[in-house]
Amino acid sequence: MRSFTYERATSAADAAARAAGTPGARFIAGGTNLLDLMKLEIETPGHLIDVNRLGLDRIEATDDGGLRIGALVRNTDLAADERVRRDYGLLSRALMAGASGQLRNKATTAGNLMQRTRCPYFYDTSQPCNKRKPGSGCSAIDGFSRQLGVVGVSDACIATHPSDMAVAMRALDAEVETVKPDGTSRAIPIADFHRLPGETPHVETVLEAGELITAVRLPAPVGGRHIYRKVRDRASYAFALVSVAAVVHPDGTGRVAVGGIAPKPWRVEAAERELPRGANSASAALLAGARPTEHNAFKLTLVERTLAAVLEEARS
Ligand SMILES: Cc1cc2nc3c(=O)[nH]c(=O)nc-3n(C[C@H](O)[C@H](O)[C@H](O)COP(=O)(O)OP(=O)(O)OC[C@H]3O[C@@H](n4cnc5c(N)ncnc54)[C@H](O)[C@@H]3O)c2cc1C
Ligand code: SF4
Repeated sequence: MRSFTYERATSAADAAARAAGTPGARFIAGGTNLLDLMKLEIETPGHLIDVNRLGLDRIEATDDGGLRIGALVRNTDLAADERVRRDYGLLSRALMAGASGQLRNKATTAGNLMQRTRCPYFYDTSQPCNKRKPGSGCSAIDGFSRQLGVVGVSDACIATHPSDMAVAMRALDAEVETVKPDGTSRAIPIADFHRLPGETPHVETVLEAGELITAVRLPAPVGGRHIYRKVRDRASYAFALVSVAAVVHPDGTGRVAVGGIAPKPWRVEAAERELPRGANSASAALLAGARPTEHNAFKLTLVERTLAAVLEEARS
């Protein structure tokens, strides 16, 4: 690991201003992703800004009947919150499907949204990777791509976003609250938060330099049956091959977001109109324009079958 300097931020606006004004600075929250990347020298920040003591660790009711989740709320605490379990069961289940108890105790809401891909070539510094080193090429496209993306991908990168939590938040229409280095704040719909790779796969979100996530807002509860189904190679401690986050109402309408198949949580609102007709129609609309490789084409069938199982569970 390369040497770096460290400071503890005293306010959110100060953290953002310091990050923007210090070349090579990164925020550190739980550290469960960033420290691994630093040890492997995939990320080499010269300065860390610790945001753990900014008081952003509360879950509060909002005036519109929703919840405001502080950026530093730990995954364990969010999953266990009584209001989340009752009204946003999808989110609680998605969180519990991720990582391990020990990791969830450290991992934060913001860090989870910002975690980087698990593409094996991104982690192998002896291989070209456009995301790690822009312009170097993509080893995965003609390499081993079983776990990688089938939709939203580009000729430069086919990596997936690994978060379970973000898939549930996409189905729930969450908004990401931030503060910028000039002290102004904004709310970014989660649909727009993660970028598709295009020619610049190293630019993963719409955050500006130094912009700090302060919270995630959930709108008022939408009712319905909440199901999160994650298909993976091992029963625990593994990232999704495919995951489906669904809210299904008794009349068969609902919402669906899919993980494990794209560079961002994948939701196609038009596909939801097909839900009452069944998984076949809905998954065809969800996967329109898919560009699978020979190794991961099985994900197209897996999405349809996982969605069929979710709809069956919702009816039962
Ligand atoms: C073995 C293992 C298995 C895992 N399995 C799963 C899994 O199955 N499903 C899953 O979803 N996840 C899984 N994870 C990932 C885990 O959920 C993430 O590592 C964790 O959520 C990251 O949160 P953190 O607070 O530790 O982030 P950190 O490591 O502290 O930071 C991650 C990134 O977020 C940035 N950041 C942190 N806070 C802010 C902020 N407030 N504003 C802007 N940027 C910020 C940091 O600068 C950094 O770039 C696994 C991780 C490990 C190590
Ligand atoms: S898929 Fe993306 S992350 Fe993986 S090697 Fe290609 S450019 Fe790198």
